[in-house]
Amino acid sequence: MSESSAPFETLPDRTLRAGTTRRRFMTWMGVVGGVAFTPQLLPQRSAHADPVAASGNPFTLGVASGDPLPDSVVLWTRLARTPLQPGGGMPAAPVPVDWEIASDRGFRTVVQRGSTAAVPEDGHSVHVDVRGLSPATDYFYRFRSGGDVSPAGRTRTAPAAGSRLAELTFAVISCQAWTDGYFNALGDLARKSPDVVFHLGDYVYEYEIKPATVRRPTTEVPQSAWAEMTTLADYRDRYALYKLDPDLQAAHRSAPFICAYDDHEVENNWAAGIPEKGQDPAAFIVRRAAAFKAWWENMPVRAALRPDGPDLRMYRRFEFGDLARFSVLDTRQYRSDQVNNDKDAPQDAATADPARTITGGAQESWILDGLGTSGALWNVLAHQTTIADLARNKGGARNVSMDGWSGYEASRARILDGATRRRAGNLVSIVGDIHRNVVSELKSTYTSDAPTVGVELAGTSIASGKDGQDSDDNDKAIKAASPHVKFGNAQRGYMLNRLDRREWRAEFHVADSIASRGLPLHRRAVVTIPSGRPEIHVG
Ligand code: FE
Ligand code: CA
Repeated sequence: MSESSAPFETLPDRTLRAGTTRRRFMTWMGVVGGVAFTPQLLPQRSAHADPVAASGNPFTLGVASGDPLPDSVVLWTRLARTPLQPGGGMPAAPVPVDWEIASDRGFRTVVQRGSTAAVPEDGHSVHVDVRGLSPATDYFYRFRSGGDVSPAGRTRTAPAAGSRLAELTFAVISCQAWTDGYFNALGDLARKSPDVVFHLGDYVYEYEIKPATVRRPTTEVPQSAWAEMTTLADYRDRYALYKLDPDLQAAHRSAPFICAYDDHEVENNWAAGIPEKGQDPAAFIVRRAAAFKAWWENMPVRAALRPDGPDLRMYRRFEFGDLARFSVLDTRQYRSDQVNNDKDAPQDAATADPARTITGGAQESWILDGLGTSGALWNVLAHQTTIADLARNKGGARNVSMDGWSGYEASRARILDGATRRRAGNLVSIVGDIHRNVVSELKSTYTSDAPTVGVELAGTSIASGKDGQDSDDNDKAIKAASPHVKFGNAQRGYMLNRLDRREWRAEFHVADSIASRGLPLHRRAVVTIPSGRPEIHVG
């Protein structure tokens, strides 16, 4: 117990003053009674329980951490005693929440603690930005509210800026349609305890849940989820439904997450201020603001990302010593509308139009600046839709997606040619969205001879698309028409990456079925990329 080492002056405003901390710590000890890491065994209420904690454990939605920096991580929870009821069974008033972070699983060496409030305006979510931590260090954290103690999570800070780093392990996940099956991939990755997990979007889906097709018990579905979500209350309910999943909770407890939204956190294939199909744009902006607010409330991200109405500065950078620089992109909020009615189509004057963009001008400059100034060995773009053309032949024509970068050819060329001009080494794109594993060579164009300038690793979905198969019709069609695609698979799972100075090693873990909880995954393939050459080796 190193209470004196806590740098209180660096803590957030609402942290307890040093003088009150010891008393508060004694209260935790009274609650937890020295029983380590097994909060389910603890008494549900202390003798001095907060009156608002009079009924039910409020930690039903789990805990999470995220956005690791060398000296900081965000600790997250959201209180809900009855998570499937509107408002989560919480009072329309602030609820005090204590937090503590320790260097050991048993919480014998607590390095910092504090107190904050879960307020109804933020859906009773809590985002604690703990500062003053040590770099490249594992920590353990938990919350307390009234007499209830949350499960404990493990997190890890990033290495010191610029420090020499030998190895980084990180998972890449996306697309967890609750209706389509169980999150066994998340349970599996939780057991791997990577340094960090990148969630590249479609954390929730906005669609109405249909009793005829849902593969989970309908008793778990909140009333609002029988319709498409459009209001802040709807979005909050949907996150609650997903957050109740035990495998998702386990994944969050296992490692810090870096989260990006894609389309379904708002609406399928939205583009900037333009909804999917012809709804009122004014109503869509209100909806986008609600969706962004709920995303911020439910993700382990900093207060700085709190949306300002319909605007959310989500794109941001993470450094892991001198080994990797990750630029997390937002290719939804600033993009030009999809052309060709957003249907797969041949590339044409519209997809090539240099006035169109998938990043927006400001983010494009930010991406290129990040590539130009990077001292990292690996330069990673972590984002939503594929940069590579995943072409398929249809009726004799070479068709590509209008929603991915293939529908924004000039924008793509500006980023990839810009990366080459800036000599950004070892460029790798990691994406989700397509519900399949696809490994491709990155080129600034795929319709004439162009050099390979990087590698794209598209990771499959956690659940979206139901079970899938190793190679479906689309996989075969993509491989037939896209010679730059070197690996494909259409099952559910996740990507586990081990990055070092010699190579990038991507393991594709997949499941044969996600029809029930606990079904196993297996390692389908290992793809390696040697440092210094954008080559794809499939093993
Ligand atoms: Fe998806
Ligand atoms: Ca998507």
